[in-house]
Amino acid sequence: MKFDSVLMVDWSGGNDRGPTPKKDAIWACVAREGHPEDPLYFRNRHEAERWIATFLAQEQALNRRVLAGFDFAFGYPHGFGNALTGSDDPLALWDWFAERVVDTAKENNRFELAGEINSMFSGIGPFWGNGLKRDIAGLPRKGSLRTNTSFAERRSAEQTATRAFPVWQLSGAGAVGSQVIMGLPMLSRLRRKFSVSVWPFEPLENPITFIEIWPSLIAKTVAATQPPDRVKDAHQVLLMAKAVSGMPDDHLRKLLNVEPTAEGTIFGLNDPELLEMASQQTALTTPSLRNDCFAMPQGAHWTPVSVALQHLRDRLGPVTETETVALSQANGQFLAKDVIAARSHPPAPNAAVDGYGFAGYAPEGPHYMPLVAGRSAAGQPFHGVVPTGHAIRILTGANLPEGVDTVILQEDVNVSQNHIAFQGPLKRGANARDAGEDMKRGDVILAAGHKITPADLGTMAAAGVGHIHVRQQLRVGVLSTGDELCEPGTQAGVGQIFDANRPMLCAVASGWGYEVVDLGRAPDDRPKLRNILDDASQRCDVIISSGGASAGDEDHMSALLQGTGSLALWRIAMKPGRPLAMGLWNDTPVFGLPGNPVAAMVCALIFARPALRRLGGGAWHETEGYMLPAAFTKSKKAGRREYLRARIRDGQVHTFASEGSGRVSGLSWATGLVELGDPAQKVSSGDLVRFIPFGNFAL
Ligand code: AMP
Ligand code: MG
Repeated sequence: MKFDSVLMVDWSGGNDRGPTPKKDAIWACVAREGHPEDPLYFRNRHEAERWIATFLAQEQALNRRVLAGFDFAFGYPHGFGNALTGSDDPLALWDWFAERVVDTAKENNRFELAGEINSMFSGIGPFWGNGLKRDIAGLPRKGSLRTNTSFAERRSAEQTATRAFPVWQLSGAGAVGSQVIMGLPMLSRLRRKFSVSVWPFEPLENPITFIEIWPSLIAKTVAATQPPDRVKDAHQVLLMAKAVSGMPDDHLRKLLNVEPTAEGTIFGLNDPELLEMASQQTALTTPSLRNDCFAMPQGAHWTPVSVALQHLRDRLGPVTETETVALSQANGQFLAKDVIAARSHPPAPNAAVDGYGFAGYAPEGPHYMPLVAGRSAAGQPFHGVVPTGHAIRILTGANLPEGVDTVILQEDVNVSQNHIAFQGPLKRGANARDAGEDMKRGDVILAAGHKITPADLGTMAAAGVGHIHVRQQLRVGVLSTGDELCEPGTQAGVGQIFDANRPMLCAVASGWGYEVVDLGRAPDDRPKLRNILDDASQRCDVIISSGGASAGDEDHMSALLQGTGSLALWRIAMKPGRPLAMGLWNDTPVFGLPGNPVAAMVCALIFARPALRRLGGGAWHETEGYMLPAAFTKSKKAGRREYLRARIRDGQVHTFASEGSGRVSGLSWATGLVELGDPAQKVSSGDLVRFIPFGNFAL
């Protein structure tokens, strides 16, 4: 009974609504395990149906069970279907409509069809509500003009759902009749294409289940929680999808377990809990960080870089929610789940070259084979069997026909009208690709935590994967602190310097693929900084600040984090760098980097980069470096790691003239960092040193 994906659709019987999302159009929302994706807008039924079909195909390929809800009646009051189709099967009525409804982008025949149906019965009705200017034969404008009494006004489901409109009314505010006529043909087509069970008409045995929904059941929650920038229809389908996908299995089972009725019924009718389930906050999939996550074991006065990194690695985890995105949206995102190949690649054995296919090993010497009529080309396979000793024309990428396992290159063959001749030897299997030799269906092709590259998009596409679970983009706030700072490009007052860190760190974080929230500059003023942090913790998943991170009088960042009980002042055995202040502000992690631009940058690369990656859902990642000969000499003390601004000329590593940590221009001069390990070291010219190009830090 468990469903992997829930799709909720708010259908429309109206005309094309144009390209910009608006109300009273078609809206759909997918949710998994209580987590809704962004609602989707469709300007017309054609686009919506096309998308739904693609979605169902995708889910089917991934072996996911789907529960799809549509907000219109699946059946009519008792006896109507039989009167039209001669059958009591409500699905026969779906097909009946599918055969008769004409729906083009510009117009459709729903009113005419309703008029024609009315004419089949004595009296006026049951349909009414001609919404057109011109009169339609047999279709009255008012319900009160009807005289036909063959069918009930309401389905029995609507005896309880008293606010629901009868299916006979085709136009006017709130009317649903048109949606039904314009919706059932779509369901009829989808049902034929996919393995669908329709509730409550059929046993729910197929991977896809269609249910009838009525968003008014959760109207109260919709009204109470609708964000101002979201259309009501969009919010309805979102809440509905969230509620149903997050529903405990036994509850869902209970709601689906109703008496079969040819009239159809409304999912969740009379369920008091549905409203409540829609209002439940989406469960956090991600545990929040512990208050002591940055606390460093006491003892060592200076913490080695490796210990500090290990600490971040152990204590940090993803803080963002997961979402499902199409491949086109996935580049640069972190995978929230392993990706499984939905199909083997290649899906079938095929030819690696243009040539001629036959069976088996061709020993040394001349070969002469009759050609089979026909050919096998990519996308146009040959369906017959190639007899032993025969060959067939085959092109690159074409499936190997039955009886073929080997292909000879066309350049190596002499061809007559119906024979080929060539010289052996040729191994069995030459120039042929095995099914699944690249990837096998069911293989994990990419692991959770991996950052998706353009190449991965190709790999996933080839393996039939169209949608994947990723982490939502991490929102990184960047803040500079200090009374001395002013904005670059403005007039600096006496004693003022330009804020160099913020533009630099914003660009770094955005280059890492995060959403950057520029938090501006904070003065050396505790209440003001507190306000800024309060606001930032609402808008960001993590805050990176620079300056004010030591334990001095004006080091307000450390002082404020101290007040939360979460402050950890890391004294790291590293140059450049002073203490790193880390803590949580309203559960939002804060990385307080040193103020000096060079130290801020190096600490960002060495510590913030892996930390943000973990917070954003990435796997831990060691930055690679290369051993290259030094073009410099240097002797360093034991007990700390040093990073020097460096660049490569003629295969040798040159370092920047000054190690001063305020000399930001050296960062521009450099193309990477030299990393000298913790022990004492004397570097002579020509010694191998570890160079890490900025590119390896994803700069
Ligand atoms: P602090 O860590 O606040 O004591 O700052 C250390 C040094 O870095 C001081 O010389 C600050 O003026 C300088 N500094 C702090 N923030 C920035 C910044 N955003 N841009 C340039 N220099 C800064
Ligand atoms: Mg300062």
